[in-house]
Amino acid sequence: MKKAEIIIIGGGVVGASVAYHLTERGAKSVLTLERENLLGKGSTGKATGGVRAQFETEINIKLSLYSIEFFKNWDFDCGYEPCGYLFLATGEKQFNFLKQSVAKQKSLGCEAVEMVDTKTISKMVKGLNCQDIVGGSFGGRDGFINPLGVLEGFSKKAAENGAAIQAETEVLLIETRNGKVVGVETDKGKLECEKVILCAGAWARNLAKTAGIDLPVEPLKRQIVWAESATSLQENLPMVIDLSNGFHFRPAKDSKREVLFAYPDKNETPSFSTDFEESFVEKVYEKAKHRAPFLAKTKVLREKCRAGLYENTPDHHAILGGCEIAGLYFANGFSGHGVMHSPATGRALAEIVLDGKANFLDVSCLRLERFATGELLHETAFI
Ligand SMILES: Cc1cc2nc3c(=O)[nH]c(=O)nc-3n(C[C@H](O)[C@H](O)[C@H](O)COP(=O)(O)OP(=O)(O)OC[C@H]3O[C@@H](n4cnc5c(N)ncnc54)[C@H](O)[C@@H]3O)c2cc1C
Repeated sequence: MKKAEIIIIGGGVVGASVAYHLTERGAKSVLTLERENLLGKGSTGKATGGVRAQFETEINIKLSLYSIEFFKNWDFDCGYEPCGYLFLATGEKQFNFLKQSVAKQKSLGCEAVEMVDTKTISKMVKGLNCQDIVGGSFGGRDGFINPLGVLEGFSKKAAENGAAIQAETEVLLIETRNGKVVGVETDKGKLECEKVILCAGAWARNLAKTAGIDLPVEPLKRQIVWAESATSLQENLPMVIDLSNGFHFRPAKDSKREVLFAYPDKNETPSFSTDFEESFVEKVYEKAKHRAPFLAKTKVLREKCRAGLYENTPDHHAILGGCEIAGLYFANGFSGHGVMHSPATGRALAEIVLDGKANFLDVSCLRLERFATGELLHETAFI
């Protein structure tokens, strides 16, 4: 029977980052198993690549600050562009929420974030309907990265460090004996291992169940409309998010006229469907017409519109770390932030697996046990 010391299940951006960070630390026998023929065919390939430190909770802000520095200084070009994220408030409650969140970011060392008034907002994004806006916040180091670029950077370097990848191999179950991981069973046969790191994105729950663990990760469809403007968009357009309904838009990377827009549809229920629905186009244009009338004049590029899966947890925070089964670890439940948090996640998992805990950053509030003990986190700024 084949063997590896550490098996990573899932070849998305998170699995690739974990493999990279483990091998950077000298782990020798690391094998990633991916059921598709190529890496990145899960949610990573559907992501649009936003990165931001504008969150409510300390842990999300810290994961972002670490990851943004990583993207900025990486010797691999992952396309990091600090175009900024602009959050818009239409009422006092939202405005106060933004104020508190800016103060928290500043207290954690993020200098490039500030409150902005309506006049400044109307100058930042020409053509925006600011009539009902009371103010906003702007994070100048937030911006965009290329999700498949990040994945490529991690997986190339992991391979150079000696990590192996086996594609077209579906893991069917995680095998345990006496409370310890002993291997995995795949559609290509059994593999022995001492440790399993579950990085299977929206599909992780059923695999965790095979080891007797309830991992509260639910798949939820997210759709993006991709459109083209007849004229060039304004230069340096940031990501713009309307807090009143979650409607957001941003320019496409490397294009002067293409734009992406979306909103979280509250009627969406958990499922593994990734079919793009025509009816979503109409719904999103309705919101665009109100907030940014210039978007309503764009032409939909149907072939670029997409639907993929968020991997949501009940408190919209990731699950990082081990569990009661010795040798079983999770890097799951990013609730739509897995690409931007992949550098910090990979390092955290490598330290947890090799040193027993993450030393560069305390991620213990993200452990699985929080769902049993009721120590849930609270994040309002998820879109
Ligand atoms: C429309 C959309 C937009 C998004 N925008 C952003 C954004 O702007 N910024 C951001 O940070 N995040 C964004 N996200 C979220 C982001 O895509 C995810 O959080 C991230 O990709 C999670 O990475 P992952 O490696 O955990 O999962 P995935 O990329 O889904 O990888 C999991 C892998 O596991 C494999 N797998 C599953 N089951 C098995 C099995 N049994 N055996 C073997 N392999 C298996 C899958 O094939 C897959 O390749 C977006 C998501 C969507 C859908």
